[in-house]
Amino acid sequence: MSLLNWFKNTISPAPSPRLRDIVSRVLAFLRTQPTDQEFRPKIVAKAIGEPPAVASMALGILRDQGLLEEHYGVHCGVNSKQLNSYTCIKDIPKSLPCEDCEESHSTLHNDSFVDIYYTVKAEEMARLLASAAIAA
Ligand SMILES: [Zn+2]
Repeated sequence: MSLLNWFKNTISPAPSPRLRDIVSRVLAFLRTQPTDQEFRPKIVAKAIGEPPAVASMALGILRDQGLLEEHYGVHCGVNSKQLNSYTCIKDIPKSLPCEDCEESHSTLHNDSFVDIYYTVKAEEMARLLASAAIAA
């Protein structure tokens, strides 16, 4: 089964040829990277030469396919340091203590921000690559 057929068969409704092409390119990029890396839409967008929104859409598809895990990193709004990260948006607490500022930050106020990144589920990725014959 080719990778394109795999997408055709598993995504409902079937994505457009353009979206399939983008997802394939994201996947090809991910394969060249260390699997323990954190992938942000901006970086992936740059790597495949598409706008971040397009990269986000492709990453969302790969997340839905179980190949990627989505993370929400909450950062201090003052020095951008990550305070904590969550795999479910509902788990983000109303406020988080910040050691550097010696106070709690809240995503409701403007003193913290959330950035979304993805990690590869190495086992699932290996299974896909083993089952799909990917043309180079
Ligand atoms: Zn802070």
